[in-house]
Amino acid sequence: MDSNNKRTGSLISIQDSLVKARFLGEVIMGETAEISVDGKLLQAEVLQIIPDHTNANAGIVEMQVFEDLTGAQIGDLVEFKGTPLSVLLGPGLLTSIWDGLQNPLYKLGEQNAYLVPGMKAPALDEEKLWDFTPSVKVGDILSGGDAIGSVPEGKLLHKILVPFSFGKCKVESIINKNSVNITQEVAVVSDEHKNKHVLKLVFQQPVKSPIPFKERAIPSQTISTGVRVIDLLAPVGYGGTVGNPGPFGAGKTVLQHSLCKYALADIIIMAACGERAGEAVEVFKDFAELDDPTTGESLMNRMCIFGNTSSMPVAAREASVFIALTVGEYYRYQGYNVILLADSTSRWAQALRERSGRQGDIPGPEAFPMDIPDQIKGMYQRAGADVATGGSLTFIGTVSPAGGNFQEPVTQATMDATGGFWGLSQDRADAKKYPAIDPLAYTTSVYDSFISWNDRNKMLQILQEANGIDQTISTIGLKKVPVEKYVLYQKGQTIDFCVMQQDAFHELDACTRPERLTVINQAVQKLIDNPIEFSQNGMEDEELKEMVKAKFDELRQWWKDWNSSAYDEEQIALLPQQIEQFILQEEYAL
Ligand code: ADP
Ligand code: MG
Repeated sequence: MDSNNKRTGSLISIQDSLVKARFLGEVIMGETAEISVDGKLLQAEVLQIIPDHTNANAGIVEMQVFEDLTGAQIGDLVEFKGTPLSVLLGPGLLTSIWDGLQNPLYKLGEQNAYLVPGMKAPALDEEKLWDFTPSVKVGDILSGGDAIGSVPEGKLLHKILVPFSFGKCKVESIINKNSVNITQEVAVVSDEHKNKHVLKLVFQQPVKSPIPFKERAIPSQTISTGVRVIDLLAPVGYGGTVGNPGPFGAGKTVLQHSLCKYALADIIIMAACGERAGEAVEVFKDFAELDDPTTGESLMNRMCIFGNTSSMPVAAREASVFIALTVGEYYRYQGYNVILLADSTSRWAQALRERSGRQGDIPGPEAFPMDIPDQIKGMYQRAGADVATGGSLTFIGTVSPAGGNFQEPVTQATMDATGGFWGLSQDRADAKKYPAIDPLAYTTSVYDSFISWNDRNKMLQILQEANGIDQTISTIGLKKVPVEKYVLYQKGQTIDFCVMQQDAFHELDACTRPERLTVINQAVQKLIDNPIEFSQNGMEDEELKEMVKAKFDELRQWWKDWNSSAYDEEQIALLPQQIEQFILQEEYAL
């Protein structure tokens, strides 16, 4: 301990993001520390404490440093902070864009065009005034998580909570309705030991201890994501979890951006984790200009973004996912439906792998830490619905397995941990069948959703049959396929091409809401249920097949146009009519 009552230490070894420091006094497992390097303070976290057998009051700590250590030297000063890695919670979270450690990127950008290690800015705007309305009075007894008042935050009412770490406490004073910023006092409470605590609009919450549920429930209400293949075949419920693995370039990021824009939720949190920096910059620029399709306001009003790109220190990736989860839990606790999109959890797992490798742990499969399945499970388990608050936290994480091999440990552990699974297929992406979610390789934990279970199964069955016939055609040739099977194949192809595939960049096609899905499903079910007798008219089978293909091509072209042009009710109703006419082929032919 130094003269200012600070607990300090000094660096004795530096190995990439892993450092060791000798300390005197006490150090707490998991607490954060700041390392002074050239006058900058770098954030670190204590991973291990090794006692010094010759001195009971001293020891060595192993720490991971979340920022770039270039320039660090043996002997650099370490100051232990006494608190675990935490996130600042309060009004102003929405519309914010941070790095993986909750440093606001716009603010940092004002200081310097390039991020340099140790740059710090307050996580939330300290000047902005919020219109606080109290909801408790002096003498009221509260406990952690109870609201003392609220402020409007965009369209939401942001409840001001007693920090979750607090036990029973009594309100000693509280301000009247007033405009305050996050540095000002709004209330004073006393705990059971008569210690007084000042409450502000914000508080720090440790990111590795989950904010509790009031009453956890199984996700039941389906999210309209706007993506047809998801909402029809592999829906996700509010509070659900989905793993979304796919090889490089298969469309994971595009899908996440679609969900970000169109999935119906109060709040969307994006954790861009270890992906390309250019991509992240695009998001920041685009999303600031885009409108929320449901409210017409800027998309950022319902969003916050943690941008921890591949060019930023690896260790911060681990932090960024926990920070994002904690923000999600905080809004869930206030009764909001939150969707957390993490791209990519593989990069997060790689951060854990690098760390455990440096720490000399015994590696598990593919050098990931032995407990990687538990760590992944622990992450997804923080998602869920809360019936008592009416809020939910949905977690959709991409996985980027090397070479698209779904057998690797992170994909496997994700499959075990999540309720839903959207596998992106290389073949479909290569064939530009977007979104490349394989309609034959998915799981979901939601049953009846926007269409019935039975309708869904019929859709799936015809896609499967068409796929089988497709394989027959490519192995033994079209000749061996009877006409009626060929018609079935064309039906499946049509459903795949016109319904499962969707252009994420077309303003109408990009998002399909449940009302439109119902009409599409009517058309699909008609197509499945009704035999279509193409009249032979003396044609050879091969000639007939050509004609069948031409007819279906025409239908598909019509349907694709409908996808991108049918705006009003009247135009939308044309689809089932068109299918009815198509089914009546023979009458026209005769
Ligand atoms: P990943 O994140 O899996 O590496 P991306 O999401 O960056 O892949 O997608 C790669 C490219 O595929 C995109 O730049 C885009 O051209 C195309 N793409 C992916 N999904 C769609 C879609 N739904 N509609 C149109 N194009 C898509
Ligand atoms: Mg990507």
